[in-house]
Amino acid sequence: MVTSASPVVPFLDLREANAAHADELKAAAARVIDSGWYVMGEELSCFEREFAAWCGVRHAVGVGNGLDALSLILRAYIDMGELAEGDEVIVPANTFIATFLAVSGNRLVPVPVEPDDASFNLDPSRVEDAIGPRTRAIMAVHLYGRLADMAALATIARRHGLLLIEDAAQAHGAASLGRKAGAFGDAAGFSFYPGKNLGALGDGGAVVTDDDRLAAAVRALRNYGSVEKYRHDRQGVNSRLDEWQAAVLRVKLRHLDAENLARQRIAAVYRQSIVHPAIRVPGEGSPGSHAWHLFVVRSARRDALRKHLASRGVQTLVHYPIPPHRQEAYVQLRHLSLPLTERIHDEVVSLPMGPRLRADQVAQVVDACLSFPLA
Ligand SMILES: *Cc1c(COP(=O)(O)O)cnc(C)c1O
Repeated sequence: MVTSASPVVPFLDLREANAAHADELKAAAARVIDSGWYVMGEELSCFEREFAAWCGVRHAVGVGNGLDALSLILRAYIDMGELAEGDEVIVPANTFIATFLAVSGNRLVPVPVEPDDASFNLDPSRVEDAIGPRTRAIMAVHLYGRLADMAALATIARRHGLLLIEDAAQAHGAASLGRKAGAFGDAAGFSFYPGKNLGALGDGGAVVTDDDRLAAAVRALRNYGSVEKYRHDRQGVNSRLDEWQAAVLRVKLRHLDAENLARQRIAAVYRQSIVHPAIRVPGEGSPGSHAWHLFVVRSARRDALRKHLASRGVQTLVHYPIPPHRQEAYVQLRHLSLPLTERIHDEVVSLPMGPRLRADQVAQVVDACLSFPLA
């Protein structure tokens, strides 16, 4: 049968992304298998050193996933007496729900704040307005990979004596003036979920910080609160980055700068070429400050755009269709009116993006966007 349909451009082809490193990954697998040691070993300590150095911070502590990374930062601050049950943490209203879950899971109160409409990130002036007597921390998210306005947020945090924590789960390598995501706040949480810019072959996460006390607290908390075997100073959890995932991440970290550069080149083509009255492309901020985890365009006719793109073989996703305060999980936040956030959730579409997307695929996505009919 002859078909004129275009080949499908996948949203993200993880098989292809990892196949590019297959030889190194298989060598790493052999090393881990032959070592006979699978949790809390040499691969993890090497990865922690290498990732901390890459981020430009003193400490990296590997944990089970990104949610645990954020959650254990807050839990450690509670243990250290710097946060207490019922304290408020300012979070972006438009984020993946994990940011909220890390806060409420520690019996802290997430206070959602509306974004800056152009950057999708926390609007510092609105943050300042949301600070009350119980506010103790700001958890900034570098959404879609773009750095939040950390200079302004740090000034506000300093002025009000607040902790500043980064949810850097989407922003490995986003940088401003030589400083990378994870190196701006008091502490940061990273995710190594397979689809993230630095992705494992399973779950993984890390806490990074310059604070020796916080790093020691998280190190203990992730491993049953143990400081040495069978001595437990805190009531911890089991959330460790295993040797196999650490070995995978060591391989993939060596390629991350090149892969982030590939994402930047794709984003530049998209931004220059997608010129359409019904499609708004994202800004990139200062050079290098966007890790382009996702390339998210906006359209008032989002669902029609998605349908059109699908008919041209272009897979898209929506990050995210429902904001946290409209989820069943947070009925206590239902009463909030956050119109900017709600509108963003109605308008966003994520185009295919990944380090292995070929030029012909990028061109197909661009052509599909440009042929979107005008109303
Ligand atoms: C992925 C993600 C997380 C959670 O990471 P997991 O490893 O999936 O637990 C947290 N915050 C944001 C913004 C994310 O994108």
